[in-house]
Amino acid sequence: MITRTAPTWHTEDWQILLSGSIRSPEALWKRLELPLETLPAGLRGHQAFPVRVPEPYLDKIQPGRLDDPLLLQVLPVAAESETVPGFVADPLGERQANPQIGLLHKYQSRVLLVLSGACAVNCRYCFRRHFPYADNRLSSHEFDPVGAYLQAHPEVNEVILSGGDPLVVSNARISSLLNLLENIPSVQRLRIHSRVPVVIPQRIDAGLLDALAQTRLDVVLVTHSNHPRELDAVFDTAMGALRQAGVHLLNQAVLLRGVNDQADVLVALSERLFQGGILPYYLHLLDPVAGAHHFDVPEAEARSLMVQLHRRLPGFLIPRLVREISGKPGKTLIDLHLS
Ligand SMILES: *Cc1c(COP(=O)(O)O)cnc(C)c1O
Ligand code: SF4
Repeated sequence: MITRTAPTWHTEDWQILLSGSIRSPEALWKRLELPLETLPAGLRGHQAFPVRVPEPYLDKIQPGRLDDPLLLQVLPVAAESETVPGFVADPLGERQANPQIGLLHKYQSRVLLVLSGACAVNCRYCFRRHFPYADNRLSSHEFDPVGAYLQAHPEVNEVILSGGDPLVVSNARISSLLNLLENIPSVQRLRIHSRVPVVIPQRIDAGLLDALAQTRLDVVLVTHSNHPRELDAVFDTAMGALRQAGVHLLNQAVLLRGVNDQADVLVALSERLFQGGILPYYLHLLDPVAGAHHFDVPEAEARSLMVQLHRRLPGFLIPRLVREISGKPGKTLIDLHLS
């Protein structure tokens, strides 16, 4: 059992951390004491997908180690600009499932809302690194059409906030969305997908906890952690407070070359998540997005890793191995051929 004290973080705390993030390759190399001669020349100019890493995450990275599994997730490398067959700008075809601005309705009972185009961290493997964020997110005056859409689609009982990252928006905006959803009887669940708790756990502030504790909706938070070292005592405090607020906690990870492509790491991740009160939900195969091919783990290797997880972990600590295939009405579960 981990003993926890309730966090008393306030909005200013995390907003300072958010705005103080490192935003250039040079600053990243300097902050983490990386050898300057390893800074790829092509990165010195501006980039389509900028570097962005907040201090609480930098804190968990071992300085001077170019192979740190946390660093690899945020480190821009020359391989990103290589063109590799099969790795494309919009691997999920999301531009097609977009009935209105900021709303994706691919699965019958769930819609996905894009509350924010921004993230607290830019993950180099991100499948949305080329997604047109700026022109596909909800601004406040667009909440009403979302309400109308949900009224007209009573088969939708779950609203998923994704991104960008929904937890970079203010508590006031989250509360006004909660108000809107609470008034639509067919909506029962709110699910928040966010990597913010991992990179700035201080975001779980008093105002957010109050809002989530008070809503009639069942709230699920899906954290996005890929490595056990991402989870520390500050994160545990935030998770403990969310559980006290009645929030269900799940995690999804992406299988990443050099980061978590070993059974030992995946076992440790599941065990560590459980200590923090979180159950593993999905392990995603990398979406073939241009610029991320250096993270790819072939499906056969992923399956054999999963077979090892089945030997070493109880069933409730085994994530589902999935892949998203463009145009399919759900995530595709990878058959492990277990017998
Ligand atoms: C992943 C995803 C969902 C949620 O799928 P679950 O299997 O319920 O986790 C919903 N909408 C979109 C567009 C998604 O990509
Ligand atoms: S937090 Fe999620 S959406 Fe944002 S860059 Fe990272 S993987 Fe992509």
